[in-house]
Amino acid sequence: MAHVLVVEDEPDIAELVRYTLEQHGYTAACAASGEEALASLRTRLPDLIVLDLMLPGMDGLEVCRLLKHDARTANLPIVMLTARDSEADVVVGLELGADDYLTKPFSPRVLVARIKAVLRRRQVPSPAENEVIVRDQLVIHPGRHQVLVAGQVAALTPTEFRILHLLARRPGWVFTRAQIVARVQGEEAAVTERAVDVHIVALRRKLGPCAGLIETIRGVGYRFKAPED
Ligand code: CA
Repeated sequence: MAHVLVVEDEPDIAELVRYTLEQHGYTAACAASGEEALASLRTRLPDLIVLDLMLPGMDGLEVCRLLKHDARTANLPIVMLTARDSEADVVVGLELGADDYLTKPFSPRVLVARIKAVLRRRQVPSPAENEVIVRDQLVIHPGRHQVLVAGQVAALTPTEFRILHLLARRPGWVFTRAQIVARVQGEEAAVTERAVDVHIVALRRKLGPCAGLIETIRGVGYRFKAPED
């Protein structure tokens, strides 16, 4: 049974989340501030943390930063809770290594579904660098640097290929533009955050019937559609 630490200063929300988690077979503990959360982590490590970003005192991003810089907690999955107008915080949180986020107000059942998905994704290792990826009508052959759409070779540029392969190896994971730039930087022209959008447009056009597998997360970045969605 997975144990979840809920870091949220609004008692009604914290209690509702805790109750919903317990209804779904999880155990949960609550912390009303970042300081309380860090103290709780010293005595018990949960399997996942739900972290509100707007906290009194130390904010959620600072908590996230501290957790990622401590070897003991660096791999703890984090699902962030954010206000509707805080896309910049979401981007920073994902770049710090948070796994997913939900915008308030949210449905507790959707939160539980996200938690379940994050824990499942963590268990499934991403395919090895050279492993063939097959999804619907899309086949990615990393060894050959080749992509087939409905059996036909799609003529991707090396950068388009690298972006597609990066996203497809981690279905459901949101990548920010900066993360994409950092990981696909190649020998040819430098990739910028703005250029990522251009590459994605071209990529979708070439993927034809499979274009929908690349999802835009508004204001944040892109992801390869999760199988569970
Ligand atoms: Ca709050």
